[in-house]
Amino acid sequence: MTFKDFNLNTPLLNVLDELGYVQPTTIQQKAFSVIMSGRDVCGIAQTGTGKTLAYLLPCLRMWKFSKNSSNPEILIIVPTRELVKQVEEEVERLTKYMNVVTVGVYGGVNMKPQIVAVENGCDVVVATPGRLLDLVLHGSLKLKAIKRMVIDEVDELFNLGFRTQINKVLDLMPPKRQNLMFSATITEEVKVLMNTHFNVPEMVEAAPTGTPLENINQRLFEVPNFNTKVNLLKLLLAEGEDMSKVLVFVGTKKQADVLHEQLEEVFPGEGGVIHSNKAQNYRFNTINNFSDGTYRFIIATDLVARGIDISEVSHVINFDVPDEPEAYMHRIGRTGRADKKGVSTMFATEKEGVYKEAIEQLMNYQIPVAGLPEHLEISDVLTDDEIPQVRMRESLIELPDIRESKGAFHEKSEKNKKVNVKISYKDKMKAKYGKPKKRKKKR
Ligand code: AMP
Repeated sequence: MTFKDFNLNTPLLNVLDELGYVQPTTIQQKAFSVIMSGRDVCGIAQTGTGKTLAYLLPCLRMWKFSKNSSNPEILIIVPTRELVKQVEEEVERLTKYMNVVTVGVYGGVNMKPQIVAVENGCDVVVATPGRLLDLVLHGSLKLKAIKRMVIDEVDELFNLGFRTQINKVLDLMPPKRQNLMFSATITEEVKVLMNTHFNVPEMVEAAPTGTPLENINQRLFEVPNFNTKVNLLKLLLAEGEDMSKVLVFVGTKKQADVLHEQLEEVFPGEGGVIHSNKAQNYRFNTINNFSDGTYRFIIATDLVARGIDISEVSHVINFDVPDEPEAYMHRIGRTGRADKKGVSTMFATEKEGVYKEAIEQLMNYQIPVAGLPEHLEISDVLTDDEIPQVRMRESLIELPDIRESKGAFHEKSEKNKKVNVKISYKDKMKAKYGKPKKRKKKR
C-alpha cells in the first residue's frame, strides 16, 4: 500500500512525494479511514510509529478553507514545548501547498506574542494544556469553531499532572466535534478520559503495547557501577564507528550534568546535554545541534527527550534502567524510526536488575547480554549515591522501671533524709494545744 491509495488531495500528495514518504506506516494505514469517517478514535502508538502523520493527514484532508472564520478548527494538545514545536513544524511541512495558518503555544515564555498570533487568526493550534487554558480564559483564543481535537501522548500528559487543565479545556469546547487521542499505554486515567469525553471511540493500534519495535537491535551490558558505565560509554563512543547520532538517557538532571562534564573532557564539543533545568533556548539549540550533526551525542533525561523528533538516531543508550518499563519503550522508540534500523543499549548494575526484568516482562522479550569489551576499565570508585550508607541502629536506651527501683547507689544519711515541710501557724498551734488557737485581734 502507498499513500496514493489514500483518499488524499493533490497538495498533500505532492508534499509527501517531496518528503520521500511513499509507504504509510501501520498506524497511518489503520487510522486514516476511521478518522475520515468522522468517528472518535483512540490510537495506541508510541513515538516513532508515525502517529503524528496518522492524525495530521486525515485532519488536514478534511480541512476546508473558509474566508469568514478566523478561529481555529483543529486543536492539538501535547505535553511538552518541544512537542509543540515538532508538531507545528510537521503541520507547516504538510501544508506547504495549502493556505493553513498554524500557531504553536506553550508555557514558560511571554504570553503576549502568542496572544497576538491567535488574535490574528489561525486554523490549527498546537498547545500545551496550561497555556492553552490561559489563552482561552484570557479571551484571545476562541474554541467555538473547533471541529477536530487531538490529544497526543495522553499518558504523558497525565504523568505531568495536566488532568484538570485537560478536563477544563474539554468542557469549554463545542459538543459537536471529533475527538482523537494517542497514547503509548492505556492506563486507567486514559480510560476515564475516554469514557467521559469521547463518543464510543474506535481503537486503532500500531503494535500491542510493550512490543519492541522490530527494527531495533537491543543489547545489555552488565556493569558494576556508575564510573564503569562512564568508561564503557567513552569506549563505545570512541570505538563504535557507526555511533553517529547517539541519544544517551539518564534518570536524573544531576547525573546528566556529571556525565556531560566527564564526556566533555574526552570528546570536547561533540555532545550536549538537555534537561528541564536548562533554559528553553539552550534546549532548542542543543536539539538543533544534534539534529544537524554538530553534536554526535546528547545526554537527556526522560521528560525532555519525549518531544525530540530527530530522524536517524543511530543509537539509544540507556545509561541507567528506568524504573517504569513504559519509559524504556519511549526511550528505545527514539531509534529505529520509520523503517530505519536502530540499536538500543542498556547499562545495568545488579541493583537495577529488577527494573530490567520488569521491562523484559512487558516486552515479553529477553534483552541479549553482550560481553564487556576486553580493555574496559572496571572502576571500583563509587559515587556518593553508590556508597553503602552506614546506618546506626536507633536503639533506645532502656530506662529502669521506677517501680522496681531499689534506690540510689548509697543510702542518704539521716540528716539528709529530713524533708522540709512548711507547717502553718494554725497547725503548729493545733499540735501544741490540741485545738486551733487563734491570734488575738490587735487592739
Ligand atoms: P512520529 O511517530 O509521528 O513521531 O514519527 C516518527 C518519524 O517518522 C518522523 O520523523 C516522521 O516524519 C517520520 N515518518 C512518519 N511517517 C512516515 C512514513 N510513512 N514514511 C517515512 N517516514 C515517516
